[in-house]
Amino acid sequence: MGWGGPGGGAMFGPSASSASGRAGLPFGGIPEELMEEATKLLASEPVRPASHVHFTQRPSEKERERLTLPQLLRAYPKWVVSGSALVIVISLTLQAGPLLTEFAISHGMERHKSLSVIVVCAVLYLALAFVSVYFQRQQVNVTGKLSSRVMHDLRIRVFTQFQRLSLDFFTEEKAGVLMSRMTSDIENLQQLIQDGISQFALQGLTMVVITVILFLTNVELAMWTVLLVVPLLVVFSIWYHQASEKGYLLARDRIANVLADLSESLYGIRVVTANNRQRRNIRNHRHVVGAYRDANAYTGRVNAIYGPSTLMIGILGQAMLLGIGGHMVLNHQLNVAQLIVFFLYLNRFFAPIQLLVQQYTTLQQGRSSIIRLRELLDTAPSVDEVPDATDLPVIEGRITFEHVDFAYLSDEPVLHDVNLEISPGESVAFVGPTGAGKSTMAKLANRFYDPTSGRVLLDGIDIRTVTLRSLRSQLGVVPQEPFLFAGSIRTNLSFGHPEATEDEINTAVDVVGLRDLVDRLPQGLDTPVHERGQTLSAGERQQLALARAFLARPRVLILDEATSSLDLQSETVIERALDRLLEGRSAILIAHRLTTAQRADRIVVIDHGGILEMGTPAELLARGGAYATMYDAWLASGGRDATRADVPDP
Ligand code: ADP
Repeated sequence: MGWGGPGGGAMFGPSASSASGRAGLPFGGIPEELMEEATKLLASEPVRPASHVHFTQRPSEKERERLTLPQLLRAYPKWVVSGSALVIVISLTLQAGPLLTEFAISHGMERHKSLSVIVVCAVLYLALAFVSVYFQRQQVNVTGKLSSRVMHDLRIRVFTQFQRLSLDFFTEEKAGVLMSRMTSDIENLQQLIQDGISQFALQGLTMVVITVILFLTNVELAMWTVLLVVPLLVVFSIWYHQASEKGYLLARDRIANVLADLSESLYGIRVVTANNRQRRNIRNHRHVVGAYRDANAYTGRVNAIYGPSTLMIGILGQAMLLGIGGHMVLNHQLNVAQLIVFFLYLNRFFAPIQLLVQQYTTLQQGRSSIIRLRELLDTAPSVDEVPDATDLPVIEGRITFEHVDFAYLSDEPVLHDVNLEISPGESVAFVGPTGAGKSTMAKLANRFYDPTSGRVLLDGIDIRTVTLRSLRSQLGVVPQEPFLFAGSIRTNLSFGHPEATEDEINTAVDVVGLRDLVDRLPQGLDTPVHERGQTLSAGERQQLALARAFLARPRVLILDEATSSLDLQSETVIERALDRLLEGRSAILIAHRLTTAQRADRIVVIDHGGILEMGTPAELLARGGAYATMYDAWLASGGRDATRADVPDP
């Protein structure tokens, strides 16, 4: 982590105050009187070493392993073994109490009337309770540590997978759904490892231990108990499980709706406000929140039935024990102490069942989360490296499209038989109507997608045969809407070239015409970028993106021109920046402005997924074809129309 800083540790170290200052937070400094305490506190903060990240496009053998719970736990055998041992010891020590009670009654009170036996039993009772509490503490400690380590590993693994997957995956999957893999799914698993498994084992073992003790005490009474109480309990528990599962699924779907509605309203807050949609949005949100409340109310009702019902079964069981057991005592088949043991254990028999049923939901949730995470981790990137991929050597910049066909969806072809060669150093503008396939061609050139058939070559090398890293290091992409990351202007500039020197950064700033802005900002290059650059103008964001590409010094530049109209001055600045950026580079420009197209070495008019015409601007104008018509219309509109360069209808 850390934007160009020396790792995340710096944020926790003594420089935290200056760090927050750099981040633009309203930090007034640590008051004198608190300085000593603050220093002590900071000294106790762990200093995290800079982490070394090994990222390869192809996952290693280990990373390819199928995600299962045992596989996750295997990395920490010591904790798994000690956790299991603790669970066994706890389930035994917890159940010793009633046995000691029985011994105290039968030996201390009835037979020998010995106070010392009673006292020894009481002391042992207490001692075992302490031991059990101590072990429980240890067990919670161990499973807590285990689950947080496992989750840490899993989070990194999922994030790494996100870094590997191809663009189509992120287009198809909603960002909210992907976020929930990292949040609710991983949290479910954490819950499962922290509480679920150990509770399941503990309660299961407790039931076994109790059943064994009951049968050892008196087989007949144990049989009665098991036959009369257990079936009722099982029937109720199955009902509860099904009803609560339904409630859980309902609540899960409905909270997803609440979150989706919330995130859409927040992201679209500008549009919401501009269109006066607040009232309608509140009404809609009230509706989805209401549905979620109903789902929770349903779960509440189910719980309200199950809890008291099992209590009732317990009381029925006790009444039965009193009747049958009492009868057996009168017939000298059982002594009073044994009957009391039955009472005590019967009470203890119910808690594990209730807990098991409740934990079952955790188990189910954890299981479905594991399945979803496994699916995600098993997804192979659609654009992947071939196993023997080599590094792309430093290229001159010849881009070739060779009989390229492409479709996003198998039955909807987007490009057909596209043939195009761009010479090293040549800038080519793609123009054409919206949806013609211009961006798609650009996406194929930097291998965001692979052609359905045909090839894309760089300096004669099929780009499918080279490593993605070496390919993208020589390609610069300036998207239509540049994405600015949280951090300073400086870190955003050096995004593609983090080792850039101060001089290089300053040159880039000068070249794209950002000098005035940087000089005007209070902290210059270190001024934080707020909310994806919302405090910068559209033009400035574009200049930043151009400077970013300039610093990365790619051999080939792919630029999707912003469609938003800029004022005359910004446009001139951007055009000048573009000229500098294009010097000596091959470039694909998706031109939305004819001024940009006119400055390119060559223009390619794309329509309906194919090349309609191409040539130098002068050639195309002289030819009097689609481009010439487009140009005339543009001139007629005053030549300052910054709208899309659309091919006119024939
Ligand atoms: P242009 O850049 O010329 O405006 P695009 O290359 O973006 O056009 O789009 C070409 C066609 O492909 C359009 O019909 C568009 O709807 C479709 N398209 C673009 N992206 C996707 C996608 N991710 N999935 C499916 N269809 C897409």
